[in-house]
Order: sequence, then C-alpha cells, then structure tokens
Amino acid sequence: MNHLFMLMNDFPYMVEITAIVFGLLFGSFANVVVYRLPIMMKARFEENIRDANGLNPKGQDVFNLAFPPSSCPHCNHLIRWYENIPVISWFWLGGKCSNCGEKISKRYPLVESLCAALVFVTAIKFGFGYEYLLVSFAALCGVAIALIDWDEQIIHPDLCNLLMWVGLLGSIFRDSIEPEQAIFGAVLGYGLLWAIQAGYLYIAKKDALGSGDLSLMGAIGAWVGPHQVGTVLSLAFFYVIAARYMKRTDVVPYGPGLLMGMWVILVFGNYIPAWAKLTF
Ligand SMILES: [Zn+2]
Repeated sequence: MNHLFMLMNDFPYMVEITAIVFGLLFGSFANVVVYRLPIMMKARFEENIRDANGLNPKGQDVFNLAFPPSSCPHCNHLIRWYENIPVISWFWLGGKCSNCGEKISKRYPLVESLCAALVFVTAIKFGFGYEYLLVSFAALCGVAIALIDWDEQIIHPDLCNLLMWVGLLGSIFRDSIEPEQAIFGAVLGYGLLWAIQAGYLYIAKKDALGSGDLSLMGAIGAWVGPHQVGTVLSLAFFYVIAARYMKRTDVVPYGPGLLMGMWVILVFGNYIPAWAKLTF
C-alpha cells in the first residue's frame, strides 16, 4: 500500500486531479444519501409501528440508496448518465430538467463542489497516504451528516456510527493520533456533552441538545482526540451564531457546526496557536 502511495505522490498533479474527481463523484453520491436516507429511516420507523400494532406490513416499493434510479421529482423523467455528471450536467442543462423544464436545485452542484474542495484541500495538505484517505472520509461522511441534520434536525445514527467506528479503527493507521487518544477522545466527547445536557436539564428542566449530538461528539472525539474536544465545541459556537442569523430562528441544528469544527482541527489544527486551543 505504501508503494502505491509513493507512486501516486510522484506523478505530477496526480494527487490533486484524483482528489477533485473523487470529491465530485462522492458529492454526487452524498446528494443521493442526504435525500434518500431520511426517507428510508421514516419508512422503517412506520413499518416498526405497524409491526408493533400487529398490522400487516404495507408492502412498500423497494427504495434504497441504489434503487429506484434517480428521476425528476416533478415529471419522473429518468436521469440519464450524461445528465448526472457532477456540476457539469447542472450547468449544461441550465439548472433545469431536460424533460419538463422544472428547476433543479442549486444545492446539488454546490454540494458536489464543496466535497471536491474539501478533498482537494486535504490532498494538498497531506499528499497521498492513510491520513489523506481517512481525513477525506471524515469530511465527506461529515457533509452527509451535516446536511441531513440541517434539513431534518436528525443526526442519522447509521452515518454517525460509521464516522465513529472508522475514526477509532483509522487511528491505528493515522500519524497524527494514537488509538489511545481516539478512545479517550470518543469518551470525552460524548461524556462532556452528556454532562452539559444533564446539567441543563437539571437547571432549566428542558433539553439543551438532541441525543444525536452526544453521539456525534463522541464520533468526532475519536477523530480529534481528547485534547481538541474543547476547541471543536468553541469553533461550533461561531457556527451557531452565524446559523441563527441564516436560518432566522432559535432552533439551530448543532451537527454542522460540530463537524465544521472537526474538519478545521483535522486539516488546520497545527496552525491554531496553542493559546487558542481549549485543551484538556
Ligand atoms: Zn422533470
């Protein structure tokens, strides 16, 4: 594996080009995940309720990440492969469905561009290697979790678990964190938010955070380690102020802020001066 990494690093622009292509393709997949996972989750929830009430299963149509193929939500026109090229197809189609002319959301190319940018910056920073692959994974998984939280105010449990387990296992391969730190980071991330939650519940008699935020901070702790948990929380604080302004409501999902904090620490952590880090 290390030979492959060295080979990739030796080719001029190989790292940068593969990063952009990989980021765009994943961004396209992230759009599917963000749209479909909440629908699948609700369907499963409904089935469980029917089951618990002794009702027959409704026999819903097959709906998963791969099936049915993507279609226009207005006219059901099947999206052909050349209409599905990340970013390019959106501009080529003028942001409209080729069949019914209904607008296609700007969010699709924006998410694809964001994913490409995140992987690109990670590639520039680390070059080809385990750190690059794993940090890219954390960023991309983070985009999917953040968008679902932004839309639905839910930290999707499957994605959150995936982030946590890859974070713990990945610490064996990463240079910037030891497995011990990953384990302590997960415990502190979860534990600290649990303590905040319990304290707030005791004083104010209501929840400060969703239970998903606790699990998410556990997963993030596995990536950044115990020393940076405080810094992630303080970075997330800036997001909360900005998001309240953008969403113009007091109900702001914390997930995107925590994940942005994680990414900043993973990629730019060594540029943050020691005095600004809320280390434990
Ligand atoms: Zn259409």
